[in-house]
Amino acid sequence: MSDGAQLSRREFAAFGWLPFLHPHHIRLAGARFRIIRNGRSKRRYLRIHGNEETARLVLERHMELHEGIAYIIESQVRNTQVDGLKLDPNRMFSRIGAEASLKNLNRDAPPDQMRRALHTLDAGREHLVRALTPPRGGLLIAVHNNSEGYSVNSEVPISDQTSLRQPAQPHAFLLCTDPADFEVLKSSPYNVVLQQQGPKQDDGSFSRLAAARGIRYVNLEVHLGERERQREMLDWVESKLP
Ligand SMILES: [Zn+2]
Repeated sequence: MSDGAQLSRREFAAFGWLPFLHPHHIRLAGARFRIIRNGRSKRRYLRIHGNEETARLVLERHMELHEGIAYIIESQVRNTQVDGLKLDPNRMFSRIGAEASLKNLNRDAPPDQMRRALHTLDAGREHLVRALTPPRGGLLIAVHNNSEGYSVNSEVPISDQTSLRQPAQPHAFLLCTDPADFEVLKSSPYNVVLQQQGPKQDDGSFSRLAAARGIRYVNLEVHLGERERQREMLDWVESKLP
């Protein structure tokens, strides 16, 4: 976004209080996230794919009614840019995952450009990860939308435990990294999978990072456009998880 600096100045004029302690944005390479704060809570929220419009609408509304900090990517498209190369932003949380995504999306990129992109990500990754990591005892909830190619059936073979209460709705499901959260979530009427141990392969997604670092993380997936279903499931998670 070219008017980013100007926007920041306007916001600075409007909310002049401690702008450096409460930034309105955070970025890693071309992935720029708007930060929404509401009150004090250990809840953190993430919308990382720019083309998942239903998730954005649901999360923005959610933040009007619930406390916590939300990070919403400012983009309308799925992939982001790093040093002139395309990258899936939910593959940038490890070097190995980012490298695979960069190679996949930029078949003819010269090795030098690839190395530069990976260096940019290495240099900035921990800053974003620290912001997204909830405080001790807190929870990060990521909201996603999918379409025909991806559903809970893709996750079942690589999950530690599963509870499929809505087999006719495979696109709507919850993925969690904490066994205690799974025990609560499996009492819901929804599809739920636990991925605390496996899969072994690090694809650079936040769910792998969360599992590796012991971060309490819940990923809420709903088919694009099913706003009411996503709202209902987010409300369920919000009200039932500690
Ligand atoms: Zn997504």
